[in-house]
Amino acid sequence: MKLCEMCKSEAVLQSSHAIPDTIFKRILRENSGKLIVVPGVGSTPVHYSNDTWDTEQLCKRCEGLLNTNYENYSIRVLRGKVGVVKKHASGVTFEDVETRKVVSFFISIFWRAANSKHESYSKVYIPEPWNDQIRAMLAADELVPRNLATVKISRLFDSTKKNGFTQQNLKSMLVSPFPRRYRRGCYSFCFILEGFFIEILSLA
Ligand SMILES: [Zn+2]
Repeated sequence: MKLCEMCKSEAVLQSSHAIPDTIFKRILRENSGKLIVVPGVGSTPVHYSNDTWDTEQLCKRCEGLLNTNYENYSIRVLRGKVGVVKKHASGVTFEDVETRKVVSFFISIFWRAANSKHESYSKVYIPEPWNDQIRAMLAADELVPRNLATVKISRLFDSTKKNGFTQQNLKSMLVSPFPRRYRRGCYSFCFILEGFFIEILSLA
């Protein structure tokens, strides 16, 4: 038995995904079982893989809690099955959508990635006590306040006229999450899923 990283109790751990398994499964299905991996940092070249970046991390209860509270709903939003996505200059907004669930979904990916031992998430890091505060809020299904984590969402598009990426190509793109450095030593973390570019900033 090991310790669940979210509720801290002893349990048989599940193979947990930070970026959801359903996203990997769709891409694998559409690409004959292969992922084209573009590492966000380091010297690893672009390569094929069928690894879904999972590690033993959470107990069955916590895994179910994140999936039921945030993931199932948010995936439907990202795939256009719930609400309306509106693009504007500084990102996208969702209309007729439970924004709280979608924000918590992205923060849960960020937190799981930061605490994952998978090498694809090795650049994601949340300093203490912020890391533990987010853990406790996710476990209690509480909204993480904006000063701890603000989520900025944009839609990817390729403006190249010839031989650019199509929207379908962009939906099949995954990048190892990577940090972006701002002035005064502040960092944000960025990742891509379902054709959206997600940036998580801390204003703390
Ligand atoms: Zn747990």
